[in-house]
Formats: sequence, structure tokens, C-alpha cells
Amino acid sequence: MVKKPFSISFDLQTGNTDKKLVTSRYLSDMKEMYYDVSKAEEIIKNKNEKIYDFTELGFDEVEQDLLYGTSIVYPGKVGEEYYMTKGHFHTKLDLAEVYYCLSGKGYMLMETPEGEWDAVELEAGKAVYVPGRWAHRSINVSDEPLVTFFVFRADAGHDYGTIETKGYRKLIVERDGKPTIIDNPKWK
Ligand code: MN
Repeated sequence: MVKKPFSISFDLQTGNTDKKLVTSRYLSDMKEMYYDVSKAEEIIKNKNEKIYDFTELGFDEVEQDLLYGTSIVYPGKVGEEYYMTKGHFHTKLDLAEVYYCLSGKGYMLMETPEGEWDAVELEAGKAVYVPGRWAHRSINVSDEPLVTFFVFRADAGHDYGTIETKGYRKLIVERDGKPTIIDNPKWK
């Protein structure tokens, strides 16, 4: 079926959209991904905080198409570790993605299966090119929501499992009041 052109509005500050397909990730969905799991459990006991939202178009995952939407990472920390997305490889590992930061401050933390890693700063107006093979995770280091717009080939697919089991090689935590990249003590 031939698609019709369409547009969607995104709020630059909040990332909010008229799109209905919004997925929310709560701390309980990803507590094992933080290195201080007991701290995460302590927070959840009080309130199961929302860590991030992302919007989806709900298209079929075919190579002729592009998927786009916004990702909104809320401000906060688990112990000294900033709120972040789960992070993923693409199932079709070689497929790239672009993230354009609309508001907030943070990092795109990336790594390859071969062990290369990089952390690129995100702030309004910056576009980060995530090449194929690079897992990607957004991390909010500010007191405002970190809002990014992303677009990728629709058949890329999401491999969350590799990061869920192995973790990331690096973490970004707050030390002496500023974002600091450390080795992940739990990395396998
Ligand atoms: Mn992706």
C-alpha cells in the first residue's frame, strides 16, 4: 500500500507529540542496568520513577521505510548514575541512526561489539550520527528533560538483550558535581 504524506508535531522542550504510540520505561523495567541495584530498589520502594518515554510510528519494519520519533529522558539519578535509556544495538547491526537534540543536556554513549566506545555530548542543535555496529544509549546529565529526535531505517530492529546481559563497558556518573565516564564494574 502506498503511504500518504503526513506530519507530526513535537514540542521542542518536552518532546510531547500528538502521536498515540508512546512507550514509557520505568525504573523497575531496567533496575538491573544501573550498577547500584540496591539503590534502584530503594527508589522503587518509594516510587517507581519514570526514566524515559519514546514515541513510535508503528509502521511495518520494512527497508523501504524510515522510522522517526522523539526520546525523552527525564532528569534524575540512581545513586551517582544518571537516568538513561536501556541502550541497544540494531538487530541488523550495520544500520545507522541519527539523533538530533531538541533540548536538554546529556551524552550519547556508544560502543561496538569489538570494544570501541565513544561518548558524544548532546545539547540543543547537535545532531549525532550513530554509525552501524554502534550500540547507543542517551544519558541525561541536566535537571531538564533530554529530548532527542531520531530517525533510522525501519527494518533495523532493536537488540536490547545484548546490553541487558553484558552491560555497557562505560558508565556516566556524577563525581565532584560533574559528569564522569567510568569503567562499568559489572561489565561482562
Ligand atoms: Mn537505534
